[in-house]
Amino acid sequence: KQGNVPPESLDQLSKKSFPICMRNCHEYLRSNHHLKHGGRMQYGLFLKGIGVSLEDSLRFFREEFTKKIDAEQFAKRYEYNIYHNYGKKGSMISYTPYSCLKIIQENPVQDDCRGCPYKTSDTSALKVKLASYGLSSTHVQEVINYVTKGHYQLACGKYFQIMHESPVELGVHHPNQYFEESQNLMG
Ligand code: SF4
Repeated sequence: KQGNVPPESLDQLSKKSFPICMRNCHEYLRSNHHLKHGGRMQYGLFLKGIGVSLEDSLRFFREEFTKKIDAEQFAKRYEYNIYHNYGKKGSMISYTPYSCLKIIQENPVQDDCRGCPYKTSDTSALKVKLASYGLSSTHVQEVINYVTKGHYQLACGKYFQIMHESPVELGVHHPNQYFEESQNLMG
C-alpha cells in the first residue's frame, strides 16, 4: 500500500498506472459527474486500495457529483456508501477492493463503468479506446488477439507490458496489483 494519494494526482496516475477498468471509471466520472452504485464500488474501493484516504475520497466524489447535484443531495444519497466502504458505517467492515475475477464476472449495465472493458466492450470500440491511449495498431492487435480468445487478464498483462515498455507481460490478477507493479517500475 502506498502513502496518501491526493485526488489531484488521479488524472495523471490514471493514464500511467491504472488498468483500463479503472481508467475507464475515472474518465467516466470526470465526464459524466456521476457513477452508479456498481461503478462507485469498483472504483471507490480501488482508490481506497491505492491509498486515497476517506476524507480525500469524500472530497473527490463530492467535487464531481456536485457539478450535477447540490452538496446536500450528495451527502444524503452518496456519503454513507463511501464511509461504509472504509468501514466507518454499518457493519464497520473495511471492504476489500475487487479482484479481476470478481470484476470480470460482473454483468454491467450499458451506461456504467462497471466491469472489465476487455470483456464488456465490443472489439471495435476497444480498438478505438486503446489507440486513443497511445497504442500503435500493431500493439492494439496484440492485445485484441488475447481478447478474442477470451483471455482478458492476458490482454491486460500485454497492455501493461506495452505501456511500461517492460520485457515481460505482467500476470494480472488484481487492479491494485497492476497499480503497484506499475508504480514500482515508475520508481
Ligand atoms: Fe481490470 Fe483485471 Fe480487467 Fe485488467 S483484467 S482491466 S485489471 S479487471
